[in-house]
Formats: sequence, C-alpha cells, structure tokens
Amino acid sequence: MERKYLISWLRDAHAMEKQAENMLKAQAKRIESYPHLQKRIEQHIEETQHQAEKLERCMSSLDIDVSSVKDVGAKLAAFGQAMSGMMADDEIVKSGIASYAFEHFEIASYKAIIQAAELLSEHEVAKVCKDILKEEEAMAAWLDEHLGNTTQEFLKRSDEEGLRAKT
Ligand code: MG
Ligand code: FE
Repeated sequence: MERKYLISWLRDAHAMEKQAENMLKAQAKRIESYPHLQKRIEQHIEETQHQAEKLERCMSSLDIDVSSVKDVGAKLAAFGQAMSGMMADDEIVKSGIASYAFEHFEIASYKAIIQAAELLSEHEVAKVCKDILKEEEAMAAWLDEHLGNTTQEFLKRSDEEGLRAKT
C-alpha cells in the first residue's frame, strides 16, 4: 500500500498543530475576563506543543524530513481569518465557535491518519495519534460544554454595559 498519503497527512497534521499553537496563544492573551476559559486554553497550548513534537518523532521514524515541515505557510488560512477577527467585541463567542470547529477538524484529521497508519502496520504512529486524538476530543468536549455558558455570560455582560452606557 502507498505510504505517500500517510506521509502527507502527517505533514498536514504537523502544520495544523503549529497553526493551533499560534491561534491558541493569540486567544489566551485576549480573554483575561474569562479565567476558566483561559486556563483550559493554556492547558491545551501545552498539549498542542507536545503534539507537534510527537508528530515530529513519528515523521522521523518514517524517514520524513522534519526540517522541511517547520514552515507552516497558510494552509489553514480560513481558520486563521476566523481567529484574527477576534478583535470584535463579541470575540469571546466568535473564537469559541472557531475553536470548536478547529478541534473537530483536528479530530477528523487524526481519525484518517490512524486508519492509514493501521492499514500500513505503522502501529507506533497509530498509537501516538490515538493519544493525541484523546486530547483533541477532551478539548472539543470541554468547548461543547462551555460554549453555551460563555455565550450567556457574554450577552449578560453586554446588556449590563449597555445599561450603564444609557444612564
Ligand atoms: Mg492539536
Ligand atoms: Fe487541539
């Protein structure tokens, strides 16, 4: 079976994690007023950095030149744009939506990689990606649990600010 797809999907995943790190860092800086969200994002930044390293190790084990993947480029520009619109006053909700979508993009990507790795009997790669998948699923579940409340909190605060502005 062809290994080229596994190789190219691993490269894409690595680029995805580099992009994720940038987005999460930008996000964490701007949400001081939602400390529980900030804390979870900071945890996921650390996980994301380790994920990139784990992928680098997988790639080396498959003799993929890791140095050539350091440059991320604009592969995930659509997400980047969603995240860079975060300066809007409703950025907390907008970035929640984008993060939720991004985590599911990651989940789908790892599911495909795991399939390919298993079919090629690259068991170690499959195992590493299953571990990463668990972290992505946990983050997605956390966002799923909290997006509703965050939206409520944002709308409540914005009402209160509106009232204050009128008096
Ligand atoms: Mg990730
Ligand atoms: Fe993630």
